[in-house]
Amino acid sequence: MPTPLHQRLRATHQRLDDAALKAERNPVSIALMLATKTQTSGTIRAAVLAHRDLVAAGEVTPRALHIGENRVQELSAKAPDLQDLQVTAHLIGPLQSNKINHTLRALVLHKDGSIDTVDTAELAARLSARWDGKSPLPVMIQVNTSGETSKSGTTPADAPALAQHIGQLPNLALRGFMTIARRSTDPDTARNCFITLARVREEVHIAGNGEGLVLSMGMSNDLESAVACGADIVRIGTSVFGERPTLA
Ligand SMILES: *Cc1c(COP(=O)(O)O)cnc(C)c1O
Repeated sequence: MPTPLHQRLRATHQRLDDAALKAERNPVSIALMLATKTQTSGTIRAAVLAHRDLVAAGEVTPRALHIGENRVQELSAKAPDLQDLQVTAHLIGPLQSNKINHTLRALVLHKDGSIDTVDTAELAARLSARWDGKSPLPVMIQVNTSGETSKSGTTPADAPALAQHIGQLPNLALRGFMTIARRSTDPDTARNCFITLARVREEVHIAGNGEGLVLSMGMSNDLESAVACGADIVRIGTSVFGERPTLA
C-alpha cells in the first residue's frame, strides 16, 4: 500500500522530471535533498526507504537522494539512528564555531557528509584545521543572493575569493554553492537569486578555482525555477513531508 509519504515523494519526483524536461535537462542529473528539519528519525528513514522502493519499482527517476539538516543538534541526535542507511548528509543551516566539533562528529556517521553553509574564510580555516578524516571534508559556500540581512551567506561579489581561499586549504573539498532564494509570490524574484548563484559558479569555474561545482538551490515552492536556472540539487521539505508543525 502506498503511504501518503510515497505519494508525495512520487509527486515531487514528477515535478522535478517535468521541470527538467522543460529545461531540456536530464532528469536523473538533478539530485533530491530531503530537508529534514523537525522530522523524526523514523520519518526520515521511512522517506529514504520509500524513495529506494519507488526507484527499485521503476516508478520514479533513479536520482540521487541526500538529506539536509538545519540544526547541529538535530543532525547529531538523528545521525546514529540513520547511520546504517548510508545516505549522504548535509548541514544546511548556520554553523557556529563552538559547534564545529559536534557537527564533524555527527557528519562522519553519514556517507560523504558535507557542510553547505560555509560563508567566511575564518569558518573555512577552522573547519580545515579541525578535520581529520581520511579524505578532505566536502563543503559548499552559502551565498546570500537575495541581499536580505536576515539570511546568512557571503555576498555574490565575495564568493569567488572565498572559493579560491577554500581551494588552498588542505582538508576541505569545495563541492559547490548553495542559496536560499527570497520568498515571494513573484517567480522572477527567486529566479534572479538562482541566476546570481549560477553566475558565481561560472566565475569560479572560469577562474579555475574548482571543477564540476554544483548548485544547491530550490525548495518546495520554487523548485521549477531553480531547475530552469541549473540547480543540481534541490532541497525539499514540505512537498515530501507535508506542512511542518509550527514551533510553539
Ligand atoms: C526548510 C529548508 C528547505 C526546504 O523548505 P521547504 O519549503 O519545506 O521545501 C530547504 N533549504 C533550507 C536551508 C531549509 O531550511
